[in-house]
Amino acid sequence: MSETFKALVVEKDDAGTSAAVKDLTLADLPEGEVTVAVEYSTVNYKDGLCIGPGGGLVRNYPHVPGIDFAGTVETSSDDRYKPGDKVVLTGWRVGEAHWGGYTQKARVRADWLVPLPDGLTTRQAMAVGTAGFTSMLAVQALEDHGFKAGPILVTGAAGGVGSVAVALLSALGQEVAAVTGRPDQEDYLRGLGASQIVPRADLAETVKRPLESETWGGCVDAVGGDMLARVLGQMQYGASVAAVGLAGGAGLPATVIPFLLRGVNLLGIDSVMQPYENRVRAWSRIAEILPMDKLEGMVVPATLGDLPKLGADILKGQVRGRVVVDVNA
Ligand code: NDP
Repeated sequence: MSETFKALVVEKDDAGTSAAVKDLTLADLPEGEVTVAVEYSTVNYKDGLCIGPGGGLVRNYPHVPGIDFAGTVETSSDDRYKPGDKVVLTGWRVGEAHWGGYTQKARVRADWLVPLPDGLTTRQAMAVGTAGFTSMLAVQALEDHGFKAGPILVTGAAGGVGSVAVALLSALGQEVAAVTGRPDQEDYLRGLGASQIVPRADLAETVKRPLESETWGGCVDAVGGDMLARVLGQMQYGASVAAVGLAGGAGLPATVIPFLLRGVNLLGIDSVMQPYENRVRAWSRIAEILPMDKLEGMVVPATLGDLPKLGADILKGQVRGRVVVDVNA
C-alpha cells in the first residue's frame, strides 16, 4: 500500500464546501517537476477565502489550499533542484488554481520555487510568508519612488502585511505611523517599531475634502476602500502609496485631485506573478533587513486541524500578525 500523508482537503457538494484533514497518497498530487516535503505554511486572507467557498479563486474541488509553503525537496526532474534543497514558494496561484501548502507533501512547477535564502529557516520564511514578501515588494516600490518627509503610514497594521511592513520600515530607519482598529494591539505595534498609532476611526469616514493637510511621506496600504481614498488626500507632495490589499473594500471613492495637485503616486503591488529575479531579490533583502526577534513576536503557531477556524477568523480581521502552520504537528 502506498504511503499516506496528511492534508487539509476542501470538498464541495450541493450543501456547500467543507474542510477537513484527510489522508492522501503521492498519486493524488497534481503534476509538477518537484515534490516537496512541506514543513510550514501560513494563513493569508486569500486562504480564508479558499478554506471556505473559494470566492471565485478555487478552480476545481477537491482542493488543498495554502498559498505559500517552505520545505525540503524530495524528488525533482528539474536540474535547478535536487533532493535535500530547502525551498520557498509564494504566488503563481498555488493554493488557488493548483493544490497548495496545507499538506505534508506538495508537487509544483520548478519555476514557482525559490531557494531558501541564506540566514532564514523554513519556519522563519513562513513567518514572513506571502504577506511579508508582499510587504517587502511594497517597501521596495516606495524606495524606488523615494520616501518624502513625514511618517510612513501603514494601514491594517496589526494584520500580516501590516505587521511586517511596520517592522521592515522601522528597520530601514523610517518613522512609522500604524493604523489599527484594535486599540489593544498598540503595545504590539510599538514593539514592531511604530512610533505613532492612528485609530482606524480617524480614517474611516468617506472623503469630504479631496485634499487635507500634507501628512504622510509614504504609505503601505493593506485596506483599500474609504481608507485609501482618505489617505490619498493626506499624502505629502510627490509621495507614494503602495496599494497591497482590500481588507476594507474593493471600491475607491476618491477624486483625481491628489494626483493632479499633489503629484501623488498610487503604486499597485502584486506578489502573485513576480518574476524569479524579483522574488530572489525580495527574499534576500528580507533575510538581510528584517529583525528576527520582531518576526518571532508576530508568530501565531497553528496546526492543520486549526485551519478551518483560522480561515474564518482572518476574513473577519481577527488574526494578529502571521499564523505559521506546522503541517507535521
Ligand atoms: P490580515 O487579515 O492579516 O490583515 C488585514 C488587516 O486589515 C486586519 O488585521 C485589520 O487590521 C485591517 N482591517 C480588516 N478589515 C478592515 C476594515 N473593514 N476596515 C479597515 N481595516 C480593516 O490580512 P493580510 O495582512 O494577510 O492581507 C491584507 C490584504 O492584502 C488582503 O486584502 C490581502 O488579500 C491582500 N494581499 C495582497 C497581496 C498582493 O499580492 N497584492 C499579497 C498578500 C495579501 P487592524 O486590526 O490593525 O485594523
